[in-house]
Amino acid sequence: MGYDDNNIFAKILRNEIPCNKIYEDEFVLSFHDINPQKKIHALVIPKGKYVDLDDFSQNASKDEMAGLLKGINTVAKILNISVDTGNGYRALANISEDGGQEVPHLHFHLFGGEKVGKMVS
Ligand code: AMP
Repeated sequence: MGYDDNNIFAKILRNEIPCNKIYEDEFVLSFHDINPQKKIHALVIPKGKYVDLDDFSQNASKDEMAGLLKGINTVAKILNISVDTGNGYRALANISEDGGQEVPHLHFHLFGGEKVGKMVS
């Protein structure tokens, strides 16, 4: 599946619709999920046009890959859930249909601020 420029996160990246921003740098944008499933529920997305983690793994540059991982850690620190500042968290990416992905732009969910519970329900 090709990248859909009209997906909601593409619109957020183009500043066409607002987000509750947590962090932004050259490689990533992070914002609070509009429908939080835990006390803390953040999203971290790469700025590049990648549909899902498989697309990213196959096509992103090494700088983009490093930037995404660094971005996740930076956001966790900002939210005080990283291992060195808090109690930990869950990072999760849904991938395509069976993975339950709804928005076709790669994103990691960061859940924390409380025990996040069973890994799969
Ligand atoms: P997924 O099912 O992994 O594709 O997750 C998509 C997530 O995006 C869901 O948790 C939604 O609540 C969230 N979401 C959808 N639209 C927005 C938006 N405009 N701002 C922030 N989060 C959103």
